[in-house]
Amino acid sequence: SDKPGRTILASSISKTYVDEITAKINSLKTIRPEGPLLVGFLANDDPAAEMYANWTGKTCESMGFRYELRRVQEKDFLEEAIIEANRDKSVDGIMVYFPVFGNAQDQYLQQVVAREKDVEGLNHVYYQNMYHNVRFLDDEKSLKSILPCTPLAVIKILEYLKVYNNLLPVGNRLYGKKCVVVNRSEIVGRPLAALLANDGAVVYSIDINNIQRFTRGEGLKFQKHQVEDLGTYSDAALKEYCSDADVVITGVPSESYKIPTEYIKEGAVCVNFSSHKNFDDSVKSKAALYVPSTGKVTISMLLRNMLRLVENRQKLGQL
Ligand code: NAD
Repeated sequence: SDKPGRTILASSISKTYVDEITAKINSLKTIRPEGPLLVGFLANDDPAAEMYANWTGKTCESMGFRYELRRVQEKDFLEEAIIEANRDKSVDGIMVYFPVFGNAQDQYLQQVVAREKDVEGLNHVYYQNMYHNVRFLDDEKSLKSILPCTPLAVIKILEYLKVYNNLLPVGNRLYGKKCVVVNRSEIVGRPLAALLANDGAVVYSIDINNIQRFTRGEGLKFQKHQVEDLGTYSDAALKEYCSDADVVITGVPSESYKIPTEYIKEGAVCVNFSSHKNFDDSVKSKAALYVPSTGKVTISMLLRNMLRLVENRQKLGQL
């Protein structure tokens, strides 16, 4: 072909998790003969959420999990419904399709989900461990902490693309890499920037207001990332940081947003996690590797997180 690089689809990357996931499912047959149960709560009428829910259900069932979509007509009853699922011993994982109220009440609801069943990894304890680069929930290091699904999916994609260099020690495998992340939401962009920086990268975190740099400092001297403000957003600044970036990751929730292909460094790795295509097709003439969407890998991470939660509860004698 006339293009120097390759487009890599999330579906091919998610396939690499099938064996690992089905093997674990089989090892849990004694305690969950019909497969672990994931419950999804849908309390909005967003067609995108509905689609994602259907898709999660299909993936679950094809891999030996059970999935139950619970529709809550009255938003104010959602909290009670979550609490009931928290108590229900047959439920292994819980997820909520946000936005529900579309304001800070959603963050409250997120924390109502029991930590032990939070497959999306949105519980405060998991966030704090992630930001502090803490990998385990206990001092004995037997219970692994959970990472938020979408940022984790992007990390796994970068591992698949070999941006992570496995000749380097675990925890430093992005040493020397410069990354740009266009999105700084609490759900994806900020945790993603932190994870990349914790693994040794220099990360330029861009949002509509300003630009920040996340790093572990010179010689990776810090154990966890530090954040510096670099000033207000401008196209010129975005161009400058992109022109030197090995990896450009986008998550702008807008149909019309396209990062100019001319900003991208020749041979860069480009990943888009927005539901809209934030790269123009012409990026294929510039990028070494281009991943146009990440949703399928996110679902694999959801299922992987769920199995980890079941294992943790098993180790604690709760199953
Ligand atoms: P959000 O609205 O909470 O955050 C959007 C972020 O983008 C903000 O930081 C904002 O400042 C920034 N932004 C917006 N316009 C910008 C611009 N012109 N230049 C620079 N920055 C800009 O959204 P979110 O929850 O982070 O979701 C973002 C997108 O990711 C959505 O399309 C969502 O559907 C998608 N998403 C995908 C997955 C997945 O698994 N692939 C998971 C969650 C969300």
